[in-house]
Amino acid sequence: MFLHGTSRINDAGHLEIGGCDVTELKAEYGTPLYIMDEQLVRRRCREYMDAFAASGLGFQVAYASKAFSVMAMCRIADEEGLSLDVVSDGELYTALQAGFPAERIHFHGNNKTPDEIEMALDARIGCFVVDNFTELELLQAIAAGRGVTVNVLLRVTPGVEAHAHHAYAATGQTDSKFGFDIGNGSAFEAVQLASAKENLTLLGVHSHIGSQIFETEGFEMAVERVADFARRVKNELNISFKVVNLGGGFGIRYVEGDTPLQVSEYVAAITNAVKKYFAGIGESLPEIWVEPGRSIVGDAGTTLYTVGTSKNIPGVRKYVAVDGGMTDNPRPALYESKYEALLANRANEPVSETVSIAGKCCESGDMLIFDVELPAAESGDLLAVACTGAYNYSMASNYNRIRRPAVVFVQNGQSDLVVKRESHGDIVANDLVPARMTKQAVTK
Ligand SMILES: *Cc1c(COP(=O)(O)O)cnc(C)c1O
Repeated sequence: MFLHGTSRINDAGHLEIGGCDVTELKAEYGTPLYIMDEQLVRRRCREYMDAFAASGLGFQVAYASKAFSVMAMCRIADEEGLSLDVVSDGELYTALQAGFPAERIHFHGNNKTPDEIEMALDARIGCFVVDNFTELELLQAIAAGRGVTVNVLLRVTPGVEAHAHHAYAATGQTDSKFGFDIGNGSAFEAVQLASAKENLTLLGVHSHIGSQIFETEGFEMAVERVADFARRVKNELNISFKVVNLGGGFGIRYVEGDTPLQVSEYVAAITNAVKKYFAGIGESLPEIWVEPGRSIVGDAGTTLYTVGTSKNIPGVRKYVAVDGGMTDNPRPALYESKYEALLANRANEPVSETVSIAGKCCESGDMLIFDVELPAAESGDLLAVACTGAYNYSMASNYNRIRRPAVVFVQNGQSDLVVKRESHGDIVANDLVPARMTKQAVTK
């Protein structure tokens, strides 16, 4: 398994992250356990901030909190000077509870409810990324009712769709639930409408072209398309965009064959494209915002499991089951995502067999990894799955009424619990039994 950040194998042959031996973390917190390498998270934040600072452009780096939204992570984003994207009242609440400065919060989403808009206006967040005409009217009406003015970006689809390893198609993007299409004129119409709304201040536009992207071409193409649009808006409406938000989607290395670029390479490609394509539109270059999620937290996360049962089907496959699965990491089931793993308490032993890692849920699709080489795993061994920091905890569920794991941050030999493991009580906390069905609990 590729070792990320501060991960290393110590003299005892145990995986160590942030100076913490995972066998000790298991003893203290139990498994499954999400372990976050705090130093690596902060390093990724700084890579973005430093690369943009070097570009000379105005910028904001907004952490897309949907990747991993917990209060301690919001604190890190704040301490590192990042802004924050939220997509729901729950993510907004998390950020506000963590004391994240409201003026650096941006609200996304294709169906913000009136209640969510009211909540965000109460908090005085910095910006709404308006997705569609319904929202444009709703936001104007609510803001007018309050006598306030709100900053907006318009989400546009530039006709560039990029995925890791895939060619980007210049078409097809029109068929998206998100945003105003540039190609069919909706985006232009939205700019006209938004700029005429008394209670909206149009800062500019937003585009997000995909996720887990390994090349710069898609971003450069998006900058070119957005610049062409900005030029038309300037020429025909005399409106200049102060802000251009280019979204997230920067790729990370999950497994050996993945070849993402350095953060500085993505940022240089974007900022150079902005300098090239936006030159001469309006008086000055726009401020550039980006929204990395996965690439801030993904490779900093490791999930620690305890091995339980195994089942060998001669000539077919050996299954090794762990005490978690699709409830803490639904990505293999959802996207056929690939992960690497090692036997964390016997990490120096030579690999001796190829096995597949199964979860404990009642679903045949509840598999974490197919065909991973490990030393012969026995009941009680620890299995570490790398690169689980993004879209794991945030997508975790209570399927089979499995309790969601704890999350610890580790750094300099210290571990801090940032999310408690759910209790059995948490599992039934919201359940109600109508009086006509009540029965004395059979405990005691
Ligand atoms: C999901 C999302 C992001 C973050 O994407 P990553 O692939 O995690 O970097 C950023 N912006 C928007 C609008 C998104 O939907």
